[in-house]
Amino acid sequence: MRLEGKTALVTGAGTGIGAAIARRLIADGARVCLVGRRQSALAHTLQELPDGKAITHDADVSDADAVAGAVRTAVEFGDGRLDIVVNNAGIGPVGTIEDCDLAEWDQALAVNLTGPMLVTRAAIPHLRRGGGAVVNISSVAGRRAFPSLAAYCVSKAGLIMLTQQAAVDFGADGIRFNAVCPGWIRTPMSEQDMQAVIEIHGGDVDSAFALVSRDTPLQRVADPSEIAAVVAFLASDDASFVSGEVMAADGGSTLLDVSTLAFYDRAAALT
Ligand code: NAP
Repeated sequence: MRLEGKTALVTGAGTGIGAAIARRLIADGARVCLVGRRQSALAHTLQELPDGKAITHDADVSDADAVAGAVRTAVEFGDGRLDIVVNNAGIGPVGTIEDCDLAEWDQALAVNLTGPMLVTRAAIPHLRRGGGAVVNISSVAGRRAFPSLAAYCVSKAGLIMLTQQAAVDFGADGIRFNAVCPGWIRTPMSEQDMQAVIEIHGGDVDSAFALVSRDTPLQRVADPSEIAAVVAFLASDDASFVSGEVMAADGGSTLLDVSTLAFYDRAAALT
């Protein structure tokens, strides 16, 4: 129960990785304010959590007023304290810089980059009181370019620098900032992404996940709980001297340069 007595705010907590993070922080003792746009998704996550340990607040993270309201709800729920912020909400529009829709580009930057800045900015006065922790969910796509995913990659790369910039600016306040870069995690977002793989290679979602992870060291995609465990560590006092860190949780996928695949025995990798 290393998060006993702490209050957390988790964005994008209605589905996927965010819901798993909320479950894990609560299992470790925290109370959690679940934030997202769809009340129905938040309510679905809430109903499986222990009574009194979570509250929901529907807000768009790209809307500064809505974000201020979410932070107020979290602080009230925490009886005046907010210790942990997890900026997890994200979207992934497809396209190169030539063919992506400008509105989608703006939206990706607003949700994936400006959103975490707004949430963090509103939370800092509260985090400062107790020496808080912020964990930003970036992506392997924040460190490696990905075909036709320009807005997503650029926004996730920006989120890494936002993490490091804030770690420098607010370290003297005792606030720690870290980023997690997940590889493929099985969630509604990634299941949607697999449709493009299915269009090219055929098969179903399971075979698409097998294909995208085939040449990675651990040769599998992950469960959202495996990201939640990393977040719980970074949010806890176990990581009390960790700040500005960018932690991959990707089964080792970003270790490899694509040219090394020619040296791979793919048949062996599949067994
Ligand atoms: P997901 O199930 O689609 O979750 C995204 C969440 O963000 C949803 O609950 C969504 O809820 C919320 N959201 C989207 N726009 C929002 C906004 N404007 N304001 C507030 N909430 C918003 O996908 P996921 O896979 O769990 O992704 C979670 C995070 O992990 C994302 O940042 C994603 O980029 C990152 N990630 C995922 C993977 C993967 O393989 N799954 C890999 C690397 C990184 P509403 O629609 O109700 O708002």
